[in-house]
Order: sequence, then structure tokens, then C-alpha cells
Amino acid sequence: MNAPIRMTTTDAPATDFVRRHVGPSPRDIDVMVEAVGARSLDALIADVIPASIGDKRPPALGAALSETAALARLREIAAKNQVFVSLIGQGYHGTVLPAVIQRNVLENPAWYTAYTPYQPEISQGRLEALMNFQTLVTDLTGLPIANASLLDEATAAAEAMALAKRSAGAKATAFFVDAAVHPQTLAVLKTRAEPLGLSIVTGAPERDLDPAAVFGVLVQYPDTYGAVRDFRGLVDRVHAAKGLVAFAADPLALTLLVPPGELGADIAIGSMQRFGVPMGYGGPHAAYMAVRKGLERTMPGRLVGLSVDARGNPAYRLALQTREQHIRREKATSNICTAQVLLAVISSMYAVYHGPEGLTEIARRVHRHAAVLAAGLRALGFTPPSAPVFDTVTVPVGSRQSEILEKARAEKINLRAIPAGAFGDAPAIGISVDETTDEAVVEAVWRAFGGTLRYDEMAGEADVRLPAGLVRTSAFLTHPVFHRYRSETEMLRYLRKLSDRDLALDRAMIPLGSCTMKLNATAEMIPITWPEFSDIHPFAPAEQAQGYKVLLDELEKMLAALTGYDAVSLQPNAGSQGEFAGLLAIRAYHASRGEPHRTVCLIPSSAHGTNPASAAMAGMQVVVVACDRDGNVDLSDLEAKATQHGDKLACAMITYPSTHGVFEEHIREMCEIVHAHGGQVYLDGANLNAQVGLSRPGAYGADVSHINLHKTFCIPHGGGGPGMGPIGVKAHLAPFLPGHPALDGGTTPVGAVSAAPYGSASILPISYTYVLMMGDAGLKRATEVAILSANYIARRLGPHYPVLYKNHNGRVAHECIVDPRALKETTGVTVDDIAKRLIDYGFHAPTVSFPVAGTLMIEPTESESKHELDRFIDAMIAIRQEIAAVAAGRLTIEQSPLRHAPHTVHDLADDAWDRAYTRSEAVFPAGVSRTDKYFAAVNRVDHVHGDRNLICSCPPIEAYAG
Ligand SMILES: *Cc1c(COP(=O)(O)O)cnc(C)c1O
Repeated sequence: MNAPIRMTTTDAPATDFVRRHVGPSPRDIDVMVEAVGARSLDALIADVIPASIGDKRPPALGAALSETAALARLREIAAKNQVFVSLIGQGYHGTVLPAVIQRNVLENPAWYTAYTPYQPEISQGRLEALMNFQTLVTDLTGLPIANASLLDEATAAAEAMALAKRSAGAKATAFFVDAAVHPQTLAVLKTRAEPLGLSIVTGAPERDLDPAAVFGVLVQYPDTYGAVRDFRGLVDRVHAAKGLVAFAADPLALTLLVPPGELGADIAIGSMQRFGVPMGYGGPHAAYMAVRKGLERTMPGRLVGLSVDARGNPAYRLALQTREQHIRREKATSNICTAQVLLAVISSMYAVYHGPEGLTEIARRVHRHAAVLAAGLRALGFTPPSAPVFDTVTVPVGSRQSEILEKARAEKINLRAIPAGAFGDAPAIGISVDETTDEAVVEAVWRAFGGTLRYDEMAGEADVRLPAGLVRTSAFLTHPVFHRYRSETEMLRYLRKLSDRDLALDRAMIPLGSCTMKLNATAEMIPITWPEFSDIHPFAPAEQAQGYKVLLDELEKMLAALTGYDAVSLQPNAGSQGEFAGLLAIRAYHASRGEPHRTVCLIPSSAHGTNPASAAMAGMQVVVVACDRDGNVDLSDLEAKATQHGDKLACAMITYPSTHGVFEEHIREMCEIVHAHGGQVYLDGANLNAQVGLSRPGAYGADVSHINLHKTFCIPHGGGGPGMGPIGVKAHLAPFLPGHPALDGGTTPVGAVSAAPYGSASILPISYTYVLMMGDAGLKRATEVAILSANYIARRLGPHYPVLYKNHNGRVAHECIVDPRALKETTGVTVDDIAKRLIDYGFHAPTVSFPVAGTLMIEPTESESKHELDRFIDAMIAIRQEIAAVAAGRLTIEQSPLRHAPHTVHDLADDAWDRAYTRSEAVFPAGVSRTDKYFAAVNRVDHVHGDRNLICSCPPIEAYAG
């Protein structure tokens, strides 16, 4: 008989995912432990994590599954979802994601593992794609400036409301919302208006609006019931009263309709979902916002602009960037940070692939189906409105509503149930056709309404017409980029060309402090494009989403177990939205106890900009708490401020481990101080990667946290989104988690914060699969190695750059801040010089100037191998030697490769090269492979030029000449 095979950590089976996720091998780990001067990994962790919070109980999530077993489990779950044809509309539509875009963008790590393009020289590919997105939006809406994505249509409407409030001359505090906007939009507007002291008035604007009583108006175009209304007179009346008008507009309809800009709109918002992005049970999708001239500097979100590089060549970059990076702290009116870049890229590519004629043809077909559908319903004795519609037919059906809906379901079709009173007095049914609708679907809908009609017979009866005054005549998408890539070969090469310009995780480590750029495993990504997850409408009947229910319930339990909270909401679709939702929970909790006057929010000076921004949006007053010299929250200042504000104290927002990269010893005391003064503790969970499996915020005193699933739980960054920011709360806050009209009819104390009940549900399988494949032991191991790797970097870089902020054992947590500010004084080298020079060595820069100006924050994560860590450390040391050469007077900083970085092929091929260093020192510094060199597409980008000459849609082709 054979002896049983003994498994140790050094000979795990090939299917062991933990070994794939964690970069350093067991032997590397031993070497690293020794290098940091610890007796063992456990001893290091004991040095790092204060004993007072260490949590020895395992979260009891079970043992790890192999990739194969996890995917089999996901298959089982997916099979419980039923994919029907959803004609529910309400802002979500069937669409065809071209396969070439699915495989080469959505399923391509060169696109999905990229970071937000703060370092423009290594991001020219996705910046070009986003510029295309902005051009698409400006052309469709007829407004001159668009940003590169907001989170969803409903939150974009809330951003439009806030923008109107800031910019309108009118001093009123009421915002008028067309009663025919999508219901989830109205719900989110109400949630967002109330803490700002704004009120929402709804009704038919043509009839119920008093322009003098409002600062702005939102209309839906075409509206949620399908009507295409002419708002010209309305716009004039609102403008006369110094108010602003925002249109929520369907981008596909805008290929046929006069765009909002030509109707006088100040702002247009909407969802680009139907441009190729699957419904995904609610998201992620890119929302858009476009504004008229004069509003661009107060518009929220990221704006891509065109500038020039050091050689005068055109180069894209994020415009007005300082504005976004600080999110204007407590003066902020928006907290948006992570957006929807990957989805914006997909929508832009959908438009590039189809071009204006292709998009128009899709829109015409959709419009014709709607007209034929209406004709058939009329033939069957129903009375849809006679006014022209674009894609949505709403029919009063009276008492037959449930019978028709059921018959439609028997045809595997979902229609929208509209209650009595919303569309006329009787119950009605809404039918929205889309790109995927064919004749057979239209005939099946007729059968559900009780008649057998043939499409070709009804086609002649149809009134295929739009309102005369609203037929679009202006051209759009005339730029060559929307005409050049129509064959699949051309499209494939365009996508490849752009991604080749960028440096994403598929090329090198991205050591971004606070952002946790870890492995986004292929097995985690595979389920998200299965139709059972991607083709479900967010308002489909619950019985069709049983698989989602299993997945969401289990994921909530996993996250609760890992964080020590009692309840989790999966609705917030970014960390920033989680902060807002968490603060609303605190606010509602105080109100429920008769203490609505508790509105002061204490925030340490080191906090991420979204914290004060979210507090401002939740109607709280931000009071800043000082940090001491070691970077810790100053306990006596916390105590003093908490005492000073006494019964006005609502909460404190604390990031833990701190943004300074240290586990503060006194976290329990901090929580106790806040609680003793009647406040709640909001613990920013962005740094959970240092805690999972080792400590739990809910267990050491925090009341609520958001969890950035796109950081700790492996959702890829997508070049700046999507993300997810669920919140966990202790039991007393559970009644105040966000509700949603589709789940509870809008009856909860805190309403919706996102358009969809579960935010960006279709990317939740990524985090779920990750937890399944890691198990208790793997998650703990990942956290330990993340901490080890950060300490290894701190230890090896220490002799070369000061490392700021360590704990009393001389340890950092999962990230470390290196401080070159003294070198700046002696040599003039800036933190930007170092960041850009790293590009020449093939790396993405660490986080620059956050949380301490002039420094670099490095977070390696557990996924980087020791080999890659060493390569990065060696590059940083080589750069330090280049700085030493300046210090020694061998060349000035202006003459040095540091200041001219990054170097490009233009430098390599420069026949007039007259620099103080050679071209090979420029592009192949120490250790850089000549075979595998990554070249930045442009030289250093000039931000000042770009902000002075703001160009935010595709530049005319002459700009590229030479
Ligand atoms: C990333 C981050 C946030 C914001 O999260 P988003 O998902 O980008 O909205 C908040 N706080 C900290 C400390 C972060 O690192």
C-alpha cells in the first residue's frame, strides 16, 4: 500500500489558487522575513498589528476551492438565473456587445487591469479611448463639454442637480423633476437632495412648473413612458427665471432626435449602457454628463483634455486634475472618485465600430419595431398614445395587467408593470424594444396581449414618425476615428494599438498606495461575461434572479464575517458612494433617537479627499482633527474636538490602518472617545487589505465601513472603474441601510443611493470567486504577505530614502511612504521627476503626493513576486544614484535624465541629441531589457498648457500633423 501523500505548503497541488495569487514562494517568504529582521512571519505580524485588535478567530468561510471547483460552483449558481428577453426599459436595454470588443477590451487584462490615468505618459491609449467617449457624448447631446464617466444615470442626475444649484442665478432651494423620469432616478434625487437642504418637486413640467420657485429642472428625453416631448418653451421659461435645465437623455434616441444642446439644455446626463454594455442586473455601465460652455470648471468627474508634451507633440491627460484629486475636500459638492472607465471605453468603441450610420441604423430599426408594435396593439383593441415614440410603448391595460404580464413571461419575455396613477388612471404596461429585438419578439408580445398578428402584415399600418420639430438634422461623429475602424481587422488592430501604449498590471507592478493593485485572476473574471450574469435586467422578476440571490446573500455573509459587521448593503457602486451611504445611516440613526442636531463629522487631516466630500454631501459639518509627528491621529485633539462639539457630534471618519500606512495603537481608544460623546465611528475600509483574516473593524469598535471591492477583493481597476463599495454596519445601523423602490417601494428610512438595487451586480462574482478560492487560510496568508512585502520594501529602500511613519516596532503596515523632500532641497529633484523616471525603468509610479505632498506611497500587495519587488527596489535605488550624481555636481537637475523623463523613441531617434547623458542611459537605464522595453508614447506632459487651453473632445485632425 502506498503511503498517503503528505501535503505541505511547499508542495501544494497545481490547482491550489492561493499559491497563484500570492506572489512570493514559501522560500522567498523566508528570505524576506529574514531581510526585515523578523524571527518569523507570525513574529512580524505581531510587530505590526496591535495586540488590542488582533483577532484569532477564523472567519469560518471554509477551505479554499481550486479554480476548477470554484468555477463549477459559479456555473451552478449561474444556472439558477433565467435569461428572459427583458423589454422593461426604464433605462436598461438589451444590446449587442460586438465580440471583438468583448474579447479585446472587456476580457483583456491590458485594458481591465490598468489604473486611473493620473500618469498620462503611460495612459495614452485609454485616454484616447476616453477622448472618443467625450466626443461621442458631446456630439450626441449637442453640448460642448463632456466628462469621462459618472457612476449611473440616477447619480448623474443628482450630480446635475448639485451642479445646477452651484451655478444657477436663481436662489430657490427646490429642484423640479419631471414625473416621467425613471423611478430610480427620482428615488436617488430624493436621497441626495434632503441632506443638502434641497427639496424635490415633481409633476408635469408643462403644467405644474413655476419657474420662479426652482433653481433647476430635470426632464427625461424621451421620457420613461416613451413620449418624445418638445421642451423648447420650458427651457426658455426656466432660463428667464435664472434656473438651469438638465436633460436625462437616451443616447441611442439622440441619433434621431434634436439634441438637448440645440434645445437650450444646460446639462445632459444619461446612461451609455445600451452602447454595447450588457445590463448585468444593474451594472456596471458608464453614465455620461455634458454641459454647456461656462459650466466645465464646476462639472464633477474626470475630464480628459488634450495638451502637449515636452517635445510639443499632442498628448492627452486628465484636465483640471488638482480639482479632482482633492475633490475640494469639505467644500466639495461631489465625492466621485472611482468612475466607470472600462465601460466608457466599451461604449466609445461600440460607437467607433458602428460609426454614425451604424448607430442611426440601429436606432431606426428600434424605432420601427416600436411603431409596428404600437400598430399591432391598436389592431388588438388597445390604446397606446397616438403621439410618436422612439422605442417605448406604454399601454393602459386596466385589470388585465397581471394576465398579460404572465402570458408574456410564458413567452420568456419581461414587460414593465406600471401601477395605476403613474401613466393615466389605469394600470399600464410598458414595452421597450432594443437592438436585440426582432420580428418574432414583437409577435410574441402581441400574443401576450391576446392576438396572433404577423409582423409583415402590421408593418404597413405603422406610423414610423418622430415629432416634426424634433427630428435631428445636425451631423455627429464626423471625426475620422468614427469612420476608420469598420472591419474587424481594423478594429482589432486599433484596440491593440491603444492598449500597447499603456502600462497596466499585465506588464509590471503598479505599486499604488491606497489603491491595492493586486492580481485580478482570470478565473475570477470568467463568470462575468456568462449570459446568466450579464443579460439580466435589474428589475427582472426575482424568480429569474435566484442565482444572483444566492451569490449576493453569500457574498454579504462573507463580507460580514471578514469585517465583523452584522449586515451588509451591496448597493453602493464605489467607495465614495459607500461613504455617503454609511454617513446617511449614521444621520438617520441619530434622527431616529431624537438627535437630528448631531451633524459634526470629525476627520483627520490625513484623510482621503472623498471623506470630507461625502460628509458635505450628507449635510454634515467637517471638523479636521490633527495628526501628530508620527502620522497618528492626535488623541488629545480628537478628545478636545469631540468634547467641544459634544451633543452636536455625529461621527468620526477614520481610515485604518491610516493613510500613513500604520496601524495606530490607539484605535480602540479613538472609537471609545467618539462613542463616549455620542458619536458613531465610520471606518474607511480602503485599507482592508492589511486586515482581512487578522482583524475586524466591527470587532474593535467601528460602527460602519465601506469595502472597496476593487481594491481588497480583486475587481480590476479598469483604468478608473468600475468598482464596488458595499458597506458593513453593526446591528443598530442595519435599519438605516439604503433601500430601493424596486425592493421596498421606497419605504425605508434611507432611500436609494444607486440606480440599481445591488449597484454593479455583475462584477460581484469576481469578489465572490476570490473568497471561494482563497478560503480562511488563504485570505489570512494574503494579508500577511501584503504586510511582509511592504516591510521588505521599506527595509530595503530605507538606506536610500527616508521612510516616513513607522510604528514603535519600526514597522509599516501594507504600504509605506518614502520621502524624497530633503533631496529636493539639495538637488531640486521633484517627486514627479522620480515618478516619471520610473517609467523609463518600466514601472508605474507609486501614489504621488498623497497623503503627504512631495512623497511617494508604495503598496506592493501580496500578489507581486519577490523577483518583481526586487526589480522595483533596484530601479528606485538606481534612481537614487542618479539623484546622487546631481548632488555631486556632475550635472544639474535640469540636465539630468530625471527631469527629462520619461524618454521615448523620439529621444532614441533624436539626431540632434545634445544631453548630458547618453541615449542609452535615457531609455535603457540599469537593468532595463532592450528586448522587452516599454516605451511611453509621449514625453512629459505639460499640464499647465492643457488647463489654459482646454480641449476636451477629439481635436481636429490637423492637430496631429507632424
Ligand atoms: C480609494 C479610496 C477611497 C474612495 O474609493 P472609491 O472607490 O475610489 O470611490 C476612499 N478612501 C480611501 C482611503 C481610498 O484609498
